[in-house]
Amino acid sequence: MSGIFGAYSTTNKPVLEEVYLGLYALQHRGQESAGIAWAEDGHVASVRGMGLLHNAIDQQRLAGESANCAIGHVRYVPLESSQLHNVLPICANYARGPVAIAHDGLVTNLAELTRQLEQRGAIFQSSTNSEAILHMMAQKSHMQPIDALVDALKKLEGSYAIAVLLEDSLVAARDPYGFKPLVIGERDGTYYAASESCALDIVGAKLLRDVEPGEIVVIGAKGMKSLRVRQERCGRCMHCSFEYVYTARPDSIIDGRSVYEARKEMGRRLARKSPCGGADLAAGMPDSGTISAIGYAQAAGTPFEMGVVRNRYVGRTFIQPTQKVRELGVKIKLNPIAEIFKDKRAVIVDDSIVRGTTAERIVSMIRNCGAAEVHLRIASPPVLHPCRYGIDTRKEETLAAVRMTLDELCRKVGADSLDYLTEEDLIAAIGLPEDKLCTACFTGKYLEER
Ligand code: SF4
Repeated sequence: MSGIFGAYSTTNKPVLEEVYLGLYALQHRGQESAGIAWAEDGHVASVRGMGLLHNAIDQQRLAGESANCAIGHVRYVPLESSQLHNVLPICANYARGPVAIAHDGLVTNLAELTRQLEQRGAIFQSSTNSEAILHMMAQKSHMQPIDALVDALKKLEGSYAIAVLLEDSLVAARDPYGFKPLVIGERDGTYYAASESCALDIVGAKLLRDVEPGEIVVIGAKGMKSLRVRQERCGRCMHCSFEYVYTARPDSIIDGRSVYEARKEMGRRLARKSPCGGADLAAGMPDSGTISAIGYAQAAGTPFEMGVVRNRYVGRTFIQPTQKVRELGVKIKLNPIAEIFKDKRAVIVDDSIVRGTTAERIVSMIRNCGAAEVHLRIASPPVLHPCRYGIDTRKEETLAAVRMTLDELCRKVGADSLDYLTEEDLIAAIGLPEDKLCTACFTGKYLEER
């Protein structure tokens, strides 16, 4: 999971500080590393580092740069890949000039592509998807950079949203199925590409549109033009439904649907499917369960309480790379207010249960507050399958709903009752047609089986 942001000013205004701000708005998509790259005197320059954006990159360093085009990246990676040489954007100066690439997603044929490239002499310095694209471009140095990039993208399988910096342009591209979100914005002659529209808001840009599945948007001195990766696949969408459940910020609009509205509707539908008569209050697990809890409370006629407080200075539990850190993270991060829960029958709404760690800890903490009953409601279906397209839940045996029946899981987390949203309600709440959504981690309906 990553966040990408790019900017190109057609009026030659400096954009590096805006890229920094855009990445700030996307910090929830990755906290392990950050990087920004730009072109300078025909060469690529970059700043990159580990940790949160403000630790990884010195904002002052950017203020003095005059580049009118830049891309940036914040990244979540598994622990074994969390090293400086894997920090994006990946940058190079090749025969056709400077290039930098930032990528969100998972190229599923990366091993095969890497093998082929190595046989032709490529030497890899990282284990990133982006470096494979870079080598594919370098091996087509007889082509114009944009043509070499399009040629490389045609070879990729899996999911990607990418921003690419070329000497004279910013390129934003989305895989032919549109798994990962990517939007285009504009303000006063500066064009932006961002993983989510909330990053456009921070720079005051207007959301123009989503990059379409399979589309390559090229932004240069003359404005925007659109190319296609693979014509034959366009129209078969697999927009990630987990973006609406958990990943995206609620103030983002993805593929025309408000994440906030989708989450609230998930809560309303959950209340209708699984009411908890006589409950004294409904509270959400902050932050991604809060909006569904509001929807649940409104539909059920149950008072909503901000019963669980989140320490905003601790990273999101789910995207911490190891189980040990994740377990500590729950304790540090979430704190129920004892006075709200004492002697009350409480409904707690969470966005999802992946490994079950957070649910067990929070139910236990609420019981310790003296709650009379704790009923857990999950605003998505059970996560039963690994994601093949870039979310870190890939080991099936780690998924709580795989390891246990509903009753077993309810006992394990210590709740009085536990229930989920249905697949049908999830799709209806998002409001996109079923054949445009990926729900594979809930349903097992992978691209290959559709
Ligand atoms: S499997 Fe789940 S997390 Fe992965 S792309 Fe599909 S909906 Fe998103």
